[in-house]
Amino acid sequence: MEQPRIVIVGGGFGGLAAAKALRNTPAQVILIDRTNHHLFQPLLYQVATAVLAPGQIATPIRNILRKQKNCTVILGEVTGVDKERKCVLFSDADRQGVPVHYDYLILASGATHSYFGHNEFEEFAPGMKSLADAVSSRNRILQAFEEAEAEEDPSRHRDLLTFVLIGAGPTGVEMAGALAILIRSTLKSEFRRVDPAHARIVLLDMAPRVLTPFSEDLSEAAKRRLEKLGVEVRLGHSVDRIDADGVVVAGERIVSKTVIWTAGVAPSPAGKWLNVEIDRAGRVRIQHDLSVPEHPEVFVVGDTAAFEQDGKPLPGVAQVAMQQGRYAGKLIHSRITGHKAPAPFRYFDKGTMAVVGKNFAVLQSHQIRLSGFGAWLAWAAVHLQFLATSSLRLTVFLQWVWTYFTGQRGSRLIVTHHGPQPAKAAEDTSRKPAVA
Ligand SMILES: Cc1cc2nc3c(=O)[nH]c(=O)nc-3n(C[C@H](O)[C@H](O)[C@H](O)COP(=O)(O)OP(=O)(O)OC[C@H]3O[C@@H](n4cnc5c(N)ncnc54)[C@H](O)[C@@H]3O)c2cc1C
Repeated sequence: MEQPRIVIVGGGFGGLAAAKALRNTPAQVILIDRTNHHLFQPLLYQVATAVLAPGQIATPIRNILRKQKNCTVILGEVTGVDKERKCVLFSDADRQGVPVHYDYLILASGATHSYFGHNEFEEFAPGMKSLADAVSSRNRILQAFEEAEAEEDPSRHRDLLTFVLIGAGPTGVEMAGALAILIRSTLKSEFRRVDPAHARIVLLDMAPRVLTPFSEDLSEAAKRRLEKLGVEVRLGHSVDRIDADGVVVAGERIVSKTVIWTAGVAPSPAGKWLNVEIDRAGRVRIQHDLSVPEHPEVFVVGDTAAFEQDGKPLPGVAQVAMQQGRYAGKLIHSRITGHKAPAPFRYFDKGTMAVVGKNFAVLQSHQIRLSGFGAWLAWAAVHLQFLATSSLRLTVFLQWVWTYFTGQRGSRLIVTHHGPQPAKAAEDTSRKPAVA
């Protein structure tokens, strides 16, 4: 008899945990992702600030699952789900809407940026969700220093070296801290016309405090630390405008060539694919076994799912996605093998952390609240532990030790494409004088 087929969409934290939980299941597991790699998003800001290289926070999904013989990995972009025919539709480089049949489906397609209805901001303030986003931010940051060094008019240096981060949640705070260290230590002695130490970092948020998921005392500690590092923290006002010249906030223009969006997220379109009930943010409302109402064979996990526990929605963090992915995998395993189903899903909160520059982090876990060096060590240990492979853990650890003692960063490269551009090449040809 043919084995049942389980399709997983997304090889992020949720999808990968689900695939691993199914390793001993007598089933065909098909994991579809639009990228070929599992990305450790919590360290994206370290790629953007040149501490780590892209390959140190991402691993090919098929490499992680190479020993799992029942799992096939497909590179493709899922574009829809046909619940009646039990098919996922995906597109790849040369085919559109390819159907893949499923007996069980796990959607773990994550989230993307949200510009809170101002999609026009994206052109001037790119977000940070993918590896390409982080490399693009790194290019922009390093390029700003190069442009300032090439600029002979010192009155322009300040504007070129003003960096604005919008969103003072964990990503914005961590990025601001890392940028401050990059500017004040790593780049310090390498420029002649500009003093990187005079660069300005502005962190904006409409919330009244930084790191709102943390307690007030920890957010205050993080804010003080940022200010000590020279970051200007401006809270309580939403951004009115972002354009090629910078940002307008509370009626004031901040001139900047480098604006980075570190604010909201929006879930993947899984709710639209399934045509089921979603919450206000667009996440799929799921039941206590993580399945979609009236479809016990369809599960949604991680950032794209809305799950309430004790009357509160679970946050969009890696731990939730991993625990949900693992649960969905185990539940499907129990159904296929005829074992007892696990009890309804319950999230176990292991705590939250955010790092602010060197030697300082904040940590909150139930009644425990820590800030400073101890929390920073815990942050480093936990992040190393959750990297996908031992080789990443080793290289990241060595890089961190090197950076800690020398101030040198791992990957300070501006990587841009200088190949021929077809449209331009055609234009240039048309301008060539005709040869008689
Ligand atoms: C910059 C940043 C920093 C963060 N820091 C932390 C932190 O410090 N601690 C923490 O706990 N959490 C952090 N998070 C949140 C955490 O990364 C997410 O909660 C977690 O990744 C959610 O897991 P997921 O499996 O739902 O989605 P993801 O891990 O995002 O995985 C989704 C996967 O689906 C794939 N996919 C999406 N759409 C499609 C499609 N149409 N077709 C095929 N594949 C698709 C994507 O390529 C991706 O591989 C951070 C997030 C970001 C962006």
